[in-house]
Amino acid sequence: MGQPKTASVVIIGGGVVGCSIAYNLARRGQRDVVVLERETVGSGTTSKAAGGIRAQFPTETEIRFSLESLRVLKNFTEEFGVDPGFKQIGYLFLVSDEKALRGFETRIALQKRFGVDVRVITPKDAQAIVPALRVDDLIAAVWGPQDGLAGPAEVTQGFAKRARELGAGIVEGVEVTAIDVAGGKVRGVRTTQGEIASPVVVNAAGPTAARVGRLAGVSVAVFPRRRHIFFTEPFPELPGPVPLTTDHTSSFYFRKEMEQVLLSPGDVEDIGQDQIVPMDWAKLDETVTKAVHRLPLIERAKISGGWAGLRPLTPDDHAILGPAPGVEGFFLAVGFGGHGFQHSPMTGRMVAEWILDGKPSMDLSLFNPARFGKDARLGDAHKDKPDAE
Ligand SMILES: Cc1cc2nc3c(=O)[nH]c(=O)nc-3n(C[C@H](O)[C@H](O)[C@H](O)COP(=O)(O)OP(=O)(O)OC[C@H]3O[C@@H](n4cnc5c(N)ncnc54)[C@H](O)[C@@H]3O)c2cc1C
Repeated sequence: MGQPKTASVVIIGGGVVGCSIAYNLARRGQRDVVVLERETVGSGTTSKAAGGIRAQFPTETEIRFSLESLRVLKNFTEEFGVDPGFKQIGYLFLVSDEKALRGFETRIALQKRFGVDVRVITPKDAQAIVPALRVDDLIAAVWGPQDGLAGPAEVTQGFAKRARELGAGIVEGVEVTAIDVAGGKVRGVRTTQGEIASPVVVNAAGPTAARVGRLAGVSVAVFPRRRHIFFTEPFPELPGPVPLTTDHTSSFYFRKEMEQVLLSPGDVEDIGQDQIVPMDWAKLDETVTKAVHRLPLIERAKISGGWAGLRPLTPDDHAILGPAPGVEGFFLAVGFGGHGFQHSPMTGRMVAEWILDGKPSMDLSLFNPARFGKDARLGDAHKDKPDAE
C-alpha cells in the first residue's frame, strides 16, 4: 500500500505493539488508521523476543494485562486465523536467597488475589519439572503453570493481517522524520515518502521511542538496553516440554525451541544505540558459565548461533502508556522492557479506548506518561524484580 495523504490515526512503528493498536482501532470501526514502519512488520525488537508470557507481575495493572493476553492467545487462531504457537507450559523462577524469596511471596499474594495460579515449591519439586536442573544451592522455586510461550512473529502477523482485513493501512519501508505540532496539537507527520495530515499520532517505536518523542518535542524516558540469546544445536538430551526457567540470582534463563535450547545470560547493557544491535560474542562465555552451573548437562551441547536485541526499559520498569504531556493528540505506547510482546493484546485495546472513548476502561495511572521528569535516568530499580525475559 502507498502512503495516504490523510489519516484519522497514524501509528509510528509496525512492531507487535503498533500492529495490536491498529487491529484494536479497526475492530472498533475506526477508519483511515495507518501504521508507518520504516522496515518491515515485526522486524524491530519484536523479532528478538523469547516469546514468554507470564501472569507473575508485581502490580495489579500488569497482572490484569497478562491475564487478558493469556485469554487472547488461547482464542488467537479463531480470532485472527493465525496459529500463535501458544504453549501453556509454565514459568519457573529459581530462588537461592531469603530476601528474593520474600519479594516473590509478596508478589504471589497479590497475584493470587487476581486468580493467578502461582506457588512456591521446593527445589526438588523444581527438579521434578526440569530433571536436568542443579538444585543443591537453591532454597525454593516459584512455579506458574498457566504461564507459557507463543511466537512473536506469528502474533504480530495475526494482528497485522486482521488489521488490514478490517481496513487499516500498513505501509512498510517508510520512516517518520518529523511530527508536525501547532498550537499544542498534533497536525500530522512527515515521512521519507511525503506528508500525512492526522489529528492523532501514536508513538509505538519500541527502542527508538525517545528519538520519535523528540520529533514532537516530548521527552520520553525509554532507554534501550541490549540482551543476548544463544541457541544450541538440536539437543534431545534435555527433553521437553521445558518451561521458561529463570535463575533469579544470575538472571540466566533458558527454554526449549523445538529440539534446540535457548540460553540467555540476562544481560542489560547500554550500547549507545537505539537501532543497530551488533552481537558481542564475548557474552557467550558468561552465558555458558551460568548455563553449565544451573544445567550441567548443557556442557555436552554445541552452540549453533545467537542474536541480540534491545529491550526498551524505563526507570521504574513499567511501560509508558497514554497521552503525551503537552501535545494534544500525541499518544505514547512505549517502554515495555522485557514484556512488550506479552502485554501487546491489552495495550492495543487500551490505546484504542483512549483514542475512541476519551479514556481507557481500566485505571492505567501506573503507566502515566507524565511520571518522569526530563532528567529521568535508568537506575537499578528493575534489577530487584524478577527479570525473566
Ligand atoms: C532478547 C530479548 C528477549 C525478549 N523476550 C521477551 C519475552 O519473552 N516476552 C515479552 O513479552 N517480551 C520480550 N522482549 C521484549 C519485547 O521484544 C519488546 O518489549 C516488544 O517487542 C516491543 O514491541 P514494540 O512493537 O514496542 O517494538 P518494535 O518491535 O521494536 O517495533 C517498533 C517499530 O518501530 C519502527 N520504527 C522506529 N522508528 C520509526 C520511525 N521513525 N518511522 C517508522 N518506523 C519506525 C521500528 O522499525 C520497529 O519495527 C524481549 C526483548 C529482547 C531484546
